[in-house]
Amino acid sequence: MTLLSRIRVVLVGTQHPGNIGAAARAMKTMGLRELALVAPAAFPDPRAEAMAVGAADLLAQARVCASLDEALADCAFVAATTARPRHISALSYTPRDWAQRLATGDNAGRIALLFGRERTGLTNQEIERAQELVAIPTAQDYTSLNLAAAVQIVGYELLLAAGASAQELPAHEPVGHADLERFYVHLEQVLIRTRFLDPANPRLLMRRLRRLFGRAAPDANEMNILRGILTSVTDALARERGAGGA
Ligand code: SAH
Repeated sequence: MTLLSRIRVVLVGTQHPGNIGAAARAMKTMGLRELALVAPAAFPDPRAEAMAVGAADLLAQARVCASLDEALADCAFVAATTARPRHISALSYTPRDWAQRLATGDNAGRIALLFGRERTGLTNQEIERAQELVAIPTAQDYTSLNLAAAVQIVGYELLLAAGASAQELPAHEPVGHADLERFYVHLEQVLIRTRFLDPANPRLLMRRLRRLFGRAAPDANEMNILRGILTSVTDALARERGAGGA
């Protein structure tokens, strides 16, 4: 699979259907084909088609999803675009650095690239789903691009980077988003049971751990080991409780 065919552009909560059409046009000119729309305000819509012009086929194939999780379920990797720098959640790249790393790095599987709402962008919770952030450098006093313009710029860098490394890369297959989410649930349960994590005062622990494991991009084998470790902790706790006498 080529880099461009592995990218799914995910537009979250788009308010103006014209922007969906313009984003589809931006995608097609850059060789991107897979579009998912999470809870768009209006779609399908003639205003989207008017702006898509020659990219109406992308709109016709676009998948409309009720939730972000649905749009990400089979993605091995999630990146979010944001105009505002956020410190904790994830590593932040320029589109150029991000695209080059994807094109030359050891990675495989489907990649989701998230774009937010026109007025308010992505919520913190949505951004937490991403292992990496992509921020387009701008003038300091106005950092917010039009949605389709942002798609165009990131798409352009992906196209250039993909062309520069057209060869297929041997890679391990990272687990999908749904498996990773199950792991985080399991991990949180175990950390609460061992009292490492205080649910009344969780601080940023889970967010930091998401960042750590997101960076490691574990494959299926590694995920089995991690889940096995968690299960061994739960079993040990249960045995201790048993040995201590009821
Ligand atoms: N006021 C919003 C801007 C939303 S613009 C905010 O501050 O987040 C709509 C979407 O376009 C954003 O959610 C993001 O996906 C993309 N976008 C706009 N400007 C961007 C930039 N400088 N870098 C990366 N993405 C950008």
